[in-house]
Amino acid sequence: MMQQYLKIKAQHPDELLFYRMGDFYELFYDDAKRASQLLEISLTKRGASAGEPIPMAGVPYHAVEGYLAKLVQLGVPVAICEQIGDPATSKGPVERQVVRIVTPGTVTDEALLHERVDNLVAAIYEFKGKFGFATLDITSGRFLLTEPQTEEAMQAELQRTRPAELLYPEDFSQMVLIESFKGIRRRPVWEFDVDTARQQLTQQFGTRDLVGFGVEKCELGLAAAGCVLQYVKDTQRTALPHIRSLVKESQDDSVILDAATRRNLELTQNLSGGLDNTLADVLDKTTTAMGSRLLKRWIHQPIRDRKLLNARLDAITDLKDSGLHAELSGVLRNVGDMERVLARLALRSARPRDMTRLRGALQQLPEIETLMEETAEPALKGLAAACSPMPDLCELLERAVVEAPPVVIRDGGVIAPGYNSELDELRELSDGATRYLEELELRERDRHGIDTLKVGFNQVHGFYIQVSRGQSHLVPPHYVRRQTLKNAERYIIPELKEHEDKVLNSKSNALALEKRLWEELFDLLLPHLEQLQSASLALATLDVFCNMAERAEALNYCRPSLVEEPGVSITAGRHPVVEQVSSEPFIANPTELSPDRRMLIITGPNMGGKSTYMRQTALITLLAHIGSYVPAEAATLGPVDRIFTRIGASDDLASGRSTFMVEMTETANILHNATEHSLVLMDEIGRGTSTYDGLSLAWASAEWLADKLKAMTLFATHYFELTELASMMEGLANVHLDAVEHGDEIAFMHAVQEGAASKSYGLAVAGLAGVPKAVIQRARQKLQELEAIGQEVAANPTSQPIGHPASQLSLIPEPSEVELALQGINPDDLTPRAALDLLYKLKGMV
Ligand code: ADP
Repeated sequence: MMQQYLKIKAQHPDELLFYRMGDFYELFYDDAKRASQLLEISLTKRGASAGEPIPMAGVPYHAVEGYLAKLVQLGVPVAICEQIGDPATSKGPVERQVVRIVTPGTVTDEALLHERVDNLVAAIYEFKGKFGFATLDITSGRFLLTEPQTEEAMQAELQRTRPAELLYPEDFSQMVLIESFKGIRRRPVWEFDVDTARQQLTQQFGTRDLVGFGVEKCELGLAAAGCVLQYVKDTQRTALPHIRSLVKESQDDSVILDAATRRNLELTQNLSGGLDNTLADVLDKTTTAMGSRLLKRWIHQPIRDRKLLNARLDAITDLKDSGLHAELSGVLRNVGDMERVLARLALRSARPRDMTRLRGALQQLPEIETLMEETAEPALKGLAAACSPMPDLCELLERAVVEAPPVVIRDGGVIAPGYNSELDELRELSDGATRYLEELELRERDRHGIDTLKVGFNQVHGFYIQVSRGQSHLVPPHYVRRQTLKNAERYIIPELKEHEDKVLNSKSNALALEKRLWEELFDLLLPHLEQLQSASLALATLDVFCNMAERAEALNYCRPSLVEEPGVSITAGRHPVVEQVSSEPFIANPTELSPDRRMLIITGPNMGGKSTYMRQTALITLLAHIGSYVPAEAATLGPVDRIFTRIGASDDLASGRSTFMVEMTETANILHNATEHSLVLMDEIGRGTSTYDGLSLAWASAEWLADKLKAMTLFATHYFELTELASMMEGLANVHLDAVEHGDEIAFMHAVQEGAASKSYGLAVAGLAGVPKAVIQRARQKLQELEAIGQEVAANPTSQPIGHPASQLSLIPEPSEVELALQGINPDDLTPRAALDLLYKLKGMV
C-alpha cells in the first residue's frame, strides 16, 4: 500500500494528498505533519519505513468538506485520492486514483466558496516590462485577458481582480508584485508557451483560430490564458463545456482606477481589510449572490461609454418610478445562485439540491416575464427576452427530481416516482417488502401459535423471525437459528431468505438505475447550458438594477447627468458611507470643477472634513460611471478617464517602503499619468518629510498638475502657503472648511466655503485628542516664538512678502555667486584669452 501511496504522491508533490482508506482520508510523512499543524489534527504513526515510524494524520471522509474549506482559505491545494477498484475482488491494495484537485482558485463546491465574492484563478506573464494577465471564474466560465503596459497598471489589475490563486512562470522577474498574495503557484515556463496556448484554447472553444475573439494578437495575454486553461483542466479532470470564449478587456473603455485608489476609496474592502463601511456595504442589498458579485465587478470597473451608462440609468429610473423593483426583488429572491449551480452542472458535479435550485429558478421565469410586461424600457426588455421562460426544462426537472431530495445521490431517493416506469417497478418490489412481511408475520404467528413472533431486519444479519425466549420451544424444526439475544432468539426460514435476496437485488438494481437516470439528466440539460447561462446573467443584471433602484429611493440619491463638456458640478453632495455610519447629521457640500476652475486648494482644520469632501467627490464620480444614482441633489459630470488618489498612506511595511516612500511613489504615478480628463485627489502631500521639503514638493506638484497636466484636482493641504497659488496662476481656487473655537472646545462646521482658511487649529485638535494640557500650553508658547521669528524674516526685504512667512524661505532660492557672474557676461565680447581666464575664475568660485 505504501508503494502505491508513494507512486501517487510522486505525481502530486505540491498538493496535500488525501489518501482514502475506508472511512478516512489519510496523510503520510511531511503531508501529515503539515496537515496536523494547519488543521489542528493529531499526528500519529503507522508502520515503519527504514526502521523509522511513518507519520500519519487523518480526517473522517464525511467531515472532509470542513477541512477542505480551511485549506482553501489558507491557499493550500489538495489532491483527493479515492478507491476506484472493488475491495472485495482486488488482490493487494485496492486501485486508487486522484479524482480531483481542490485548489483555492478552482473550487466550485458550495461549501468552499464565499457566496458574494468572485473566486478567480489567474495567471501572470511578463516580457520586457509588459504584462499578460488572464483570469477565469470557473463558476461562470468568464474568461478574460488584459495586457497591462506598466507595472502600475499590472498592480491595479491585481488589486481589482484579487485572484484566489495566481499562477506565475518559474522565471518570473517581478516577484515584488505578487509576493503578498496567498495563493501564488509556480508553474513551469513551458505552460506559458504561446503556441501551446493557441492550440489549447482553440481546442477548448472548438474553433480554428482565435480571430473571432479578437485576441489573436495578444501574445502576452494568450500565454497567461493558456496556462490558466491547462491548470484548470488538470485540476478538474473533466470537460469544461461552460468555458466557451476568451474576452479581451481594454482599459480604453473604463475609468481607470489604480491600486492605491481602489484601496483608498474603500470600494469593497476597508483600509483594515474588512468588508464593513465600504461603498459595497452601503450599496449592496441585492437578493441573489450572483447579483452581489456582479455589482462588485461593476464597482471595480467603472466605464466611460455614455450610451451604456445612460441605458443603465434609464433602466433604474424606470424600475424606481414604477415601483416594479420591489415586486421583482421578491421573485428574484427565489432564483438563488443560478450561476454557480450551472457551473456545477457543466462540470457534472451538481448535487441533487442544485437541480431543485435550478428548478426553483426556472419556476420564477413566467412570473418575471409577466412583471416585465409592465415596462417598455428597451434595456429591461432586452433582459426580459434573455430570461424568458423555459417550460420544457422546467417541466423536465419537475418530473425528474423529488420535491426535497437528499444531499447526495449515493443512497438514491432523488429521482421522482412516475419519471421512469422501470424504476417505479423496482422500487415497488423493494417497498412491497413491508406488506409481504406483515402477512408473513401474521401467518407464522397463527400457524405455530407463537404470539411473540415478529419479523424484523437489521443491516448485519438481514431479515429474521424473532421469538421470545419463553416461547422458543414452540418453533418448528425448519426454523434455522441466526442469532441469540438476551431474551429472544432469531431465526431464518428459506422462504424469508428468498424474499431477502429479491428485495436486496431490487434495491441495488433500483439504485443503479437511479444513478444512470441521474447522469442522463445531465445529458438532457447540458445542450441548453448556453441559454441557461445567458438567462442567469440577465437575472443577475436585473437584480443589480432593482437593487440600485431601491437604494436610490431609500437613500435619496439623484440621477446624474453625463455630458460632453469637461467638468464636475455637484450640488449638495454627500459621502455615501460617512452619511450612513455617522451619528451626526451629514452636511452636504457642493463641488464645482471646470476648465476655468481646475484645481481646488482645500484648507481647514484637521478633522474639518477635507478627506471626506474629496472622497465623496470621487465616489460620486465613480458611482455615476457605473450607471448608478448618486448621493447628491444634482450632479453633472463630464468625461473622466481616470481617478487618482493620494490619500493618507500608511507604512507599507510588507514591501519595506516607508510612509514617505509610498506617498512619493503614488505621487509620481499621478504626475506621470494624469490628463486633463482625470480626477485627482491629493491629500496632505509632503507630510512625511521636513517642512521645507514637504512644502516645496507640494507646491511643485500643485503647479505641475494645474499648469502642465490641467487635471481636475482637489488638493487638500495644511501648508497655508499654497493658498497663494490661486492669485499666481489661472484655474485655481481656494476653498476651506471651518471650525469655531470656544474656550477649550472646538466645533467643526463641515461646510465647504470659498476662500482660504484663516487659521490652523492644530493645537485645539491636539487638545481634543487628549494631549496633556501642559504640553498644549508649552506648544502655544513655542508657536508664538516661531511666529515672531517668522515676522522678522518677513521684514527682511530679500524674502518674498507673502503668506505664512516662516516657511517661505526655501521656495525661491537666491541666485548663486557663479550665476550672478555668468549673468554679467556677454560671450561675444570676450577674447579667447579672457574667456579662459574667466573659466578658471568660475571654477575657483565653485
Ligand atoms: P480632515 O480630512 O479634514 O482631517 P475628515 O474628512 O477625516 O477630516 O473628517 C473628520 C470627521 O468629520 C469624519 O470622520 C466625519 O465623521 C466628520 N465629517 C466630515 N465631513 C462631514 C460632513 N460633511 N458632515 C458631517 N460630518 C462630517
